[in-house]
Amino acid sequence: MIDDTDDNPLAGAHLDTLAVRAGIARTGEGEHSEPVFLTSSYVFDSAADAARRFSGATPGNVYSRYTNPTVRTFEQRIAALEGGEQAVGTASGMAAILSTSMALLKSGDHVVCSRNVFGTTVNLFAKYLAKFGVEVSFVPLLALDDWRAAIRPNTAMLFVETPSNPLCEVADLAAMSQLARDSDCLLVVDNCFCTPALQTPLALGADIVVHSATKYLDGQGRCVGGAVVGSQQHMEEVVTFLRTCGPTMSPFNAWVFLKGLETLRLRMDAHSRSALELATWLQQQEAIEQVFYAGLPDHPGHALAARQQRAFGGVLSFRVKGGRQQAWDVIDSVRIMSHTANLGDAKTTIVHPATTTHGRLGDAERAAAGITDNLIRVAVGLEDVDDLRADLLRGLAAIT
Ligand SMILES: *Cc1c(COP(=O)(O)O)cnc(C)c1O
Repeated sequence: MIDDTDDNPLAGAHLDTLAVRAGIARTGEGEHSEPVFLTSSYVFDSAADAARRFSGATPGNVYSRYTNPTVRTFEQRIAALEGGEQAVGTASGMAAILSTSMALLKSGDHVVCSRNVFGTTVNLFAKYLAKFGVEVSFVPLLALDDWRAAIRPNTAMLFVETPSNPLCEVADLAAMSQLARDSDCLLVVDNCFCTPALQTPLALGADIVVHSATKYLDGQGRCVGGAVVGSQQHMEEVVTFLRTCGPTMSPFNAWVFLKGLETLRLRMDAHSRSALELATWLQQQEAIEQVFYAGLPDHPGHALAARQQRAFGGVLSFRVKGGRQQAWDVIDSVRIMSHTANLGDAKTTIVHPATTTHGRLGDAERAAAGITDNLIRVAVGLEDVDDLRADLLRGLAAIT
């Protein structure tokens, strides 16, 4: 293989260029688009070659649980976009978080995790890692004093997701990185909502970025996958876990994500533009009690988000006047938006968090998280914003 990066024509290239070209390795067939290597194993040139590849003395593919050229291209591209030394593709976003935890934590370690992370992440830490002797404290995303107070001598990792789902709270990643450094532990950031098009946590001092590629990296709702990005030293541990335990990324999915990355910046800009327009409009509607979107000047996280992010992303939420029935009526009355819990899709999605994504929380926990019964989340897609506004107006007409 001839690797385009051998003489590094992409040194110093910008995000848009890296999103399209980083990691490309040509086969010699003259193909322009990235090839998909749907092969589980690889043939050796000789017995000596096999021995060398198995021992790691020479690089080369052995088996697709270890390495696959299409997955490697995806890994190099997402590493370049996040500004990390190395990345690892995983079977899902949860596999990325699991692999990071299994590789870098051990029995007796302690984790401090934001209370406002993806629900399944809470289950992973509280239910499964706990079985292996890793203790977790959950603290409110924005309460830095609570984070500081929760840290113990055996704290090995801080885990944060910003902006939060669905209220768009914004954590100060530079301050959290400093806290992690002062406490001699790792800061792991789930960068799913912003993607490297809008936010690069490693540049702000985080140690590791995890992704659900299922969302905006794909961008069209086709495949499940994930990624972990960080230093070579940390990624070696994660790679070893993946090779041993197997939650690796499928080469076909890697290829879909590569195609997704090519348009990442354009899409994130469009999602953000439409979300800001809809959030601003929603604020003026009679049937609305409150809108949550960090792009709004009166959102408490606005100034920080403006500093830390390139734009404000595609997810917003709002409270309607009334309760659960009014929220359900709005959701049941829109006709363009898809009623589904997914996000990061070209198609706009709408969901009632209190009875779906956050339905498993106890009443007190849900109240503490601000997930009221009259709250609706919209993940704004790529449709014409006038049509989305008309659709929301149709929904709101059901309760006014
Ligand atoms: C969806 C999601 C995950 C989990 O990713 P999967 O690909 O579904 O396993 C993790 N974090 C966030 C913020 C998510 O939205």
